[in-house]
Amino acid sequence: MFKYIPAHAPGTFEGYKIDGKPLEWWNKDNPFFKYPYLLVSAFMGVQSKWTREENVKDDDVVVIGDSGGFQAVTLGKVQPTVSVLKWLEANCDIGFTLDYSPFEKVEDFKDGVNKATKNTISMVKFLDNMERTYQNNLVYEKERDKNSKLKIYNVIHGNDKERLDLWYNKMKDFKFEGYAVGSQPPYGNPMKQVIGALYLWDKGHRENQHIFAVSGANTLPVLCYLGKYFKNLTADSSSYAIGRMYCSFISPYKLSHYIPFGMKGKDKQLKQLPCTCEVCSYINKQIDKWDFYSDVPEQSRMLSLRGNILTLHDLNMFIKYVDVMNKLVENKEIFVEYIKHHFDDWEIMLKAINFIDCVVEKGFDFGYQKYKDNGELDFDVKINTKDHKRLFNF
Ligand SMILES: [Zn+2]
Repeated sequence: MFKYIPAHAPGTFEGYKIDGKPLEWWNKDNPFFKYPYLLVSAFMGVQSKWTREENVKDDDVVVIGDSGGFQAVTLGKVQPTVSVLKWLEANCDIGFTLDYSPFEKVEDFKDGVNKATKNTISMVKFLDNMERTYQNNLVYEKERDKNSKLKIYNVIHGNDKERLDLWYNKMKDFKFEGYAVGSQPPYGNPMKQVIGALYLWDKGHRENQHIFAVSGANTLPVLCYLGKYFKNLTADSSSYAIGRMYCSFISPYKLSHYIPFGMKGKDKQLKQLPCTCEVCSYINKQIDKWDFYSDVPEQSRMLSLRGNILTLHDLNMFIKYVDVMNKLVENKEIFVEYIKHHFDDWEIMLKAINFIDCVVEKGFDFGYQKYKDNGELDFDVKINTKDHKRLFNF
């Protein structure tokens, strides 16, 4: 079964209340809906002094801690391995090993795309990052508190079989409780996002697995399909934050389309939020209180109550969408008919689904070779709209 894990940036909901109720979705005292999952980056957590004790009120909440390896690449800042491990033990149920991601930082933010994730590195640098990650794993093994309930997931990287073999063989003897795999550029191509997970499935690791930072509209249904073959498969993303960042309102029933909503003089206006979810139903009853078209300066939008409301609707759409997909994947025929009618890029999605089944039936080596020989593991996905593009790159 697949679960979507919203990545939470500490501070983003702080201080905002509706009818006296705080907005954090993981606590049951929020005004809209409870979803007991979140991912917090140890990098952000340590810096902002985020603690479970202060922020999580209910015992059933699952907090996943990203180790901060990606920030080490993109921001060039590395936190000491032991302090990351101790932060994870104090605040999380699941935490990742502190990896050195095999990507290079490239300063290019054209098209709103962080190219840091677009360029894989040379083999020399790959092996160097692998060795440094291995050294961190040794520290985790030695310093972990045996009484802590923290489950550690062993991070595996590699954008092809050769690199996956190298990294996996180096790390496989650590006795951790699960695995995590890096997502692969291009992010709009669901085939690329399932390679690592299928590699590990083939090695017999079929529970407690996480895929980093992936949630494209084309990819989420494929991850739900992949989830059929795993006990507890998760992936995180912060795509739902487009509400806060761009005043974008995800269309109910179509995740890949959003309505620009709530910017004075720019957006078309509606009297009510066009949705019946818990967030919108609540807000629509008192919509006059919330002036969605007031002129909030661009720099304040991120931190406006309106932005947070739109973001919680968007998050709600992701959660409901995954729930619907998880029900549909039980029957492949019904699922395939569904995606053909709902997605412009359904052919790419169908290829990824068939790739999954090929690996499950005939093993990873066979499936990988077959699809590689056909050139289907190398192609670049054509992204149809700007809407897609935004959703793919968080
Ligand atoms: Zn809604």
